[in-house]
Amino acid sequence: MTLPALALHGGAGTITAASLSAQDARGYRQALHDIAAAAQALLLEGGSALDAVCLAVQMLEDCPLFNAGHGAVFTHAATHELDAAVMDGRDLRAGAIAGVSRLRNPVHTARAVMEDGAHVLLAGAGAEAFAQERGLTFVDPAYFSTPMRREQLERVRAAGRVVLDHDGASAVAEASGKPRTPLDEDRKMGTVGAVAVDRHGHLAAATSTGGMTNKRVGRIGDSPLIGAGTYADDRYAAISCTGSGEMFIRAAAAYDVCARMRYAGQSLTEAADAVVHQSLPALGGTGGLIAVDRHGNLALPFNTEGMYRAHVRGADAPVTAIHR
Ligand code: ASP
Repeated sequence: MTLPALALHGGAGTITAASLSAQDARGYRQALHDIAAAAQALLLEGGSALDAVCLAVQMLEDCPLFNAGHGAVFTHAATHELDAAVMDGRDLRAGAIAGVSRLRNPVHTARAVMEDGAHVLLAGAGAEAFAQERGLTFVDPAYFSTPMRREQLERVRAAGRVVLDHDGASAVAEASGKPRTPLDEDRKMGTVGAVAVDRHGHLAAATSTGGMTNKRVGRIGDSPLIGAGTYADDRYAAISCTGSGEMFIRAAAAYDVCARMRYAGQSLTEAADAVVHQSLPALGGTGGLIAVDRHGNLALPFNTEGMYRAHVRGADAPVTAIHR
């Protein structure tokens, strides 16, 4: 029997002390704590890693603090286009959706795509038609909008940039010649993800995102791409990424963690660190990832100032953190 373990992220980036008040930080950590505790309870009751990561990501999607589901960032056209993926390490089954705008919990549809088994990735109207057939919950696109995200879009548009969720304020500060504070609320990637190992030693990963603020309509990031932002293989690791998606795609970041373990004999920590601190920076990639192996080892490296994160091992209390 394996001791269950789980890690979550709510995005990485330049999370500045100036823009993140002590009170806000407490709010983020409380949310991460409660979501980790819910997924932990499921694992301790004998639930599967797959169920645990889907529950955690669904709760993160429902929480307006994070850039997924309710609270997702805006595209340049002030719309929302959401991406999500799920992978089961037992048999390498995977499901993902991209560019949807009316599904309340994109992770549920990603899982339904996986369970259906015919395809791995469905996009746009086709993904929504599939979700309709499955009876999944639809919402008005306005459900995803929050005043905070709209303000963020206005700031970022004014600065003429396309930025990761948490990178917006810094981009504006730079453009306006104001000094950058050390950790900046808008300079972070608010994508959410979870990885878990259950008591049977099975692994799973799930990721969900609104993408990048002011992104071009139709742009798809790494999150729903199996091997880029999401991957799970019982023999090696389960991984969920957050960061500058284009570079994570080019680096095949999530799969590279498994490949390093498989072909180079690296440990989980060595492999995850190499991807985040070597491969991604070599391409100009910023962000982080969470990873777990079948022994319950966890790695949560990031190359930005902060990453919203939590982890649990066995029945220990969840540990949450934002900065280094
Ligand atoms: N990786 C995500 C994307 O490029 C963004 C993020 O992590 O916040 O869509």
